[in-house]
Amino acid sequence: MEFETLAIHDGQAPEPRTGAVSVPIYQTSTFQQDGIGQQRLGFEYSRSGNPTRQALEAALALVEKGDYGLAFASGSAATLAALQVLKPGDGILAGNDTYGGTYRIFERILRPWGVDTRYVDATNIAAFEQAIDSNTRLIWVETPTNPLLKLVDIAALADLARRRNLLLVVDNTFASPYLQQPLALGAHVVVHSTTKYLGGHSDVVGGAFITSDKAIYDTVKFYQNAAGAVPGPWDSWLVLRGLKTLKVRMREHQESALYLAHILEAHPAVERVYYPGLTSHPQHELAKRQMRGFGGMISFEVKGGFPAVERLISRLKLFVLAESLGGVESLLCYPPRMTHASVAPEERARRGIHDNLVRLSVGLEAASDLEADLLEGLQS
Ligand SMILES: *Cc1c(COP(=O)(O)O)cnc(C)c1O
Repeated sequence: MEFETLAIHDGQAPEPRTGAVSVPIYQTSTFQQDGIGQQRLGFEYSRSGNPTRQALEAALALVEKGDYGLAFASGSAATLAALQVLKPGDGILAGNDTYGGTYRIFERILRPWGVDTRYVDATNIAAFEQAIDSNTRLIWVETPTNPLLKLVDIAALADLARRRNLLLVVDNTFASPYLQQPLALGAHVVVHSTTKYLGGHSDVVGGAFITSDKAIYDTVKFYQNAAGAVPGPWDSWLVLRGLKTLKVRMREHQESALYLAHILEAHPAVERVYYPGLTSHPQHELAKRQMRGFGGMISFEVKGGFPAVERLISRLKLFVLAESLGGVESLLCYPPRMTHASVAPEERARRGIHDNLVRLSVGLEAASDLEADLLEGLQS
């Protein structure tokens, strides 16, 4: 079945007792047992399992073409959970453009526990191969990356991981499973911040973990129950609801993003545009091969440095200045002082995150209104 059919139906059959078509929000912490150890439908306590969360977990697995899904209280919780397959002494190779919070988990949580992470140019498969040593167990990448929207060739990296007996984890938050399905390309694990496109309405924080590997699932499922960073029934329901419209939202996000990327690329006040859908993007061919579309995120450099960025921000009426992405409303973020403020200035410069860079999450407003807003903001 097609993506949108699965997203609406799977794991979400009408509730048998009343026929409710929308999965009910089972707002309960515990479940009556018919006798000691006799659970009616396998539920005993909502940290271990809850029917609303279970419906979400089944749907997450299906849209990512995986056998098993787990829902978490945030993308960061899902990230730390996925890393429980490691033990002290193991090493990680991570793309050098990972989400700041993921970098913080590698450096401030895992490193003190004896797991070493090294960073590699994520666009360079040979660099990953060269960096592998006897401790390396896992490769962690995001694609498209944040904020420069570089792409990682998932199939090539999966091939390397298979040859060298490593696990490949892909954070698929920026693409969403509608546009890109890393498990089908050979990755072992997918994680998401469902806060972004999967939730889609800027009203919930959540995370997801998906795999088809039973042993990895068992480890992470054990950790989910033991550590307890689970989403409540209401948050699970919000993500489940978001998932049903993912396809139509992604189509609109990316149609508007492509339109605006062309407008920006032709604008005299814009120095450079980063968007995988532009033929000027160095990995446009890979984007066409690996993704079903180019996504809703655009980054661009404004001529005139930081003062021009400030002028743009002060004039915009529709683009809201905020962190996060993937919601119905368009957002603008200034990575140097927002999402990437914790990266040292020299390191930022080395990565190509210049002081005139802004990032857009293109929402579902009319593209013509968004265009008018940007043109007004860019006027000198
Ligand atoms: C937001 C984000 C995360 C972290 O998710 P939270 O839900 O904020 O904890 C991880 N990876 C990427 C790519 C993100 O954008």
